[in-house]
Amino acid sequence: KESRAKKFQRQHMDPDGYPSNNSNYCNQMMRRRHMTEGRCKPVNTFIHEPLVDVQAICLQGNITCKNGQPNCHKSSSSMKITDCRVTSGSKYPNCAYRTSQKERHIIVACEGNPYVPVHFDASI
Ligand code: ADP
Repeated sequence: KESRAKKFQRQHMDPDGYPSNNSNYCNQMMRRRHMTEGRCKPVNTFIHEPLVDVQAICLQGNITCKNGQPNCHKSSSSMKITDCRVTSGSKYPNCAYRTSQKERHIIVACEGNPYVPVHFDASI
């Protein structure tokens, strides 16, 4: 079975994939990373930074997550990200997404030993 750490990498990591001007990025990546199976996952963020730099966030500022759990961490640097949000007219199984590129501080939840990212909480 896929670990939570590997699931985070599948859903959120794309270090080499900054979509310079590809409005189809989210349509392609949400499908390629299996987030359009059973339903269209409504919102998802891809991170375009090296995995080691994202794993290091688990050692950075500790904050409360949106769900009230205490295991969230905010990146000390801003990171290149792409937000994918399903369009209002999107109808499963034809999942359609809006692609928006940003540079933001990101907040991830970490778990385990080693203590690694398992959930993407927010960008600021
Ligand atoms: P994401 O939230 O990154 O889009 P999922 O919802 O598929 O992805 O998975 C999040 C995983 O992270 C779940 O297994 C959940 O139990 C785990 N998790 C650990 N800590 C938290 C937290 N503070 N908030 C939300 N999910 C968390």
